[in-house]
Amino acid sequence: MMKELTRRNFIYGMAASAVMVGFPNLGQAFSNDDKFDLVIRGGEVLDPSQNLRARRDVGIRNAVVAALEPEIPASMGKQVIDAGGRLVLPGLIDYHAHVCPELSAIGIPADELVPYSGATTYVDTGDTGGNNFSAFKHYIIPKCRSRIYAYVHISCIGLAGFPVTECLNINYVNVDLAAKTLAENPDVLLGVKVRMEKSIVGENGLEPLKRAIKAAELSGVKGARVMCHIGLGPGEMSDLLELLRPGDVLTHCFTGNGTGIMKDGKVLPAARAAKERGVIFDVAHGAGSFDFAIAEPAMAQGILPDTLSSDVHVYSANSPGRVQLPWVMSKFLHMGLSLEQVVAMTTQIPAKLIGKVDKLGTLQVGAPGDVSILELVEEDVKFMDAGGGGKKLNTRQGKRYLKPFKTVRAGRAFGQPYPAPFVF
Ligand SMILES: [Zn+2]
Repeated sequence: MMKELTRRNFIYGMAASAVMVGFPNLGQAFSNDDKFDLVIRGGEVLDPSQNLRARRDVGIRNAVVAALEPEIPASMGKQVIDAGGRLVLPGLIDYHAHVCPELSAIGIPADELVPYSGATTYVDTGDTGGNNFSAFKHYIIPKCRSRIYAYVHISCIGLAGFPVTECLNINYVNVDLAAKTLAENPDVLLGVKVRMEKSIVGENGLEPLKRAIKAAELSGVKGARVMCHIGLGPGEMSDLLELLRPGDVLTHCFTGNGTGIMKDGKVLPAARAAKERGVIFDVAHGAGSFDFAIAEPAMAQGILPDTLSSDVHVYSANSPGRVQLPWVMSKFLHMGLSLEQVVAMTTQIPAKLIGKVDKLGTLQVGAPGDVSILELVEEDVKFMDAGGGGKKLNTRQGKRYLKPFKTVRAGRAFGQPYPAPFVF
């Protein structure tokens, strides 16, 4: 029975691989050995895309999920990971990260983050602008095992000048350049990033955001988004929120820097209206952009985030709030979201927003072989937020947290077991 089952899955796996690389007759290139490259055994699979939470084994062959079954014998795997007692999730997606150290002043190499993030996909949010994006795409991304997408910064220098901010000089804020970069790189780019705070834009007010929106529209790329960072100013938050279009991303949605999306304990009507018209609310915890005192009342008033993300970079990664994705997920679990919700917000939902790879963010047969194995540790834990604007950090006493165990990208685990030969 098992033989028959795996044979069918083998054929399916080959078909999926053949489609992915565009060769019709790849079958001959493979031996009759129907073992999986990797079997992840004994874990509790949680895949919101299939409403699935149950003990399942995952078989990966040729970089795609080839089988998801109640039991796959260890003998069927060239490599085996014992996930007993752990959660087996679709590869986590960090929708707000900074993973281009070579060209921005704040990035961290994506693969370096894996032991802490448990993520297989990162969205780089504006490390590069139109003047240096090409180097990111051609020299950095191809060398990463992690899957990387990006927003191009509306400022042509991206975050290369940090801590000197990128939109103080409005001449850097070049609409045509950002639009052209976006139009020419639909394989990697999701949209245009802009950071909107008084300290970043100086006297330029809402102009950088207006230019980012214009660049997204001018690019002609269907569904091109603007990701807008919020914080303290410029001007009234409501004026900024009213500019965002359906599908644009409000990042740092629960920032405590300034009043955020709250006023006098209530969600701003403009924030609620933005949510209702389809603006995406992204957490992007960061070193100063997540405040329990904003998130808790906002969620109690019905404003849930769409995506959980870290805003990990060289400063935030060392901050006391612990920004890595599993910690952000753990904080939202503590605030009352279900495990299914926090997993959907880091897999299925961001994968849909990326919208470039079939079945990304799922463990369905035929999905990319990207898997995050985490442990839900049941013990007392102190959570800390990121305050904002020099505020004292808030703490919350929790009882459980998520901890990365193993991360698998395209069927290859980071760390052991090492494949031989090591190809990816
Ligand atoms: Zn950021």
